[in-house]
Amino acid sequence: MDKVLTGWFSEIQNELWPGQSFSLKVQNVLHKEKSKFQDIQIIETETYGRCLILDGIIQCTSRDEFSYQEMIAFLPLCCHPNPQKVLIVGGGDGGVAREVVKHPLVKEVHQVEIDDRVVQLSKKYLPSMACGFDSKKLKLTIGDGFEYMKNHRNEFDVIITDSSDPIGPAVNLFHESYFDLLKQALRDGGVVCSQAGSFWLDFEYVKKTLKGCALHFPKVGYAITSVPSYPCGHIGFIIASLDKKHRLENPVKKFEKSEIDALNLKYYTSEIHAAAFTLPRWVRSTFTNK
Ligand code: SAM
Repeated sequence: MDKVLTGWFSEIQNELWPGQSFSLKVQNVLHKEKSKFQDIQIIETETYGRCLILDGIIQCTSRDEFSYQEMIAFLPLCCHPNPQKVLIVGGGDGGVAREVVKHPLVKEVHQVEIDDRVVQLSKKYLPSMACGFDSKKLKLTIGDGFEYMKNHRNEFDVIITDSSDPIGPAVNLFHESYFDLLKQALRDGGVVCSQAGSFWLDFEYVKKTLKGCALHFPKVGYAITSVPSYPCGHIGFIIASLDKKHRLENPVKKFEKSEIDALNLKYYTSEIHAAAFTLPRWVRSTFTNK
């Protein structure tokens, strides 16, 4: 069955979430291709605006992307007292770069994305996200984030991994050895944040990834945000710091309302930051030992 010709796009052809699928009514297929790394589709939907799909999985929609992009950017940035130099791994739609460059203390942002076609198509079809690539603070490299990390030591204050899910080119970005590379690429007191899946769907995987991260970082946390177009309507982040005194749920930078307005943040506030780390009991006991 052709998922698009029936008038609906459904996440039915992936092995990550057996037995369920989220669907969006399609108005128009804007682009379809197979790049060197993955299948890329961009569709116009009836109720979620434009949508980027990689290997059959929704990456972002124009209706709800801000929740994910703001949280994956500002959770780690506000945990760091002086996040001057930031690295983004993945993030080919440009939305995370758009948020990171807004932070007043951030001077330099480096980004390594494996698939130039995602960047080019986002510039064409998703300009409200891809505007992140226009910032003078940003330097984009096309390459594999895992390999890039091997050549960078003691360099970044914050590293954000905005990867696709752990199939295809992103598999290594969830591996325990990746957290070792992240640790080495950070300066003292550095903070990392990675897309980490949902506790409803990926419980064992999140548990394993948190365990791998804790082998290299003295302070590790898991935070969540609500994104209706992701499976089960939410997604989690692993946040870790090299500073063991760090209380990740307590941002060192607390934005006043006027700053939030000036930064044009629609989802992130200091209250949301703290709340994002508050987990249901059955999850908390496994993910945090509390
Ligand atoms: N917000 C999305 C989500 O959670 O589903 C992720 C969005 S972003 C489009 C993911 C990007 O990661 C893609 O552009 C993909 O090409 C990139 N990516 C996957 N594996 C990568 C790797 N090994 N190195 C660098 N970028 C990678």
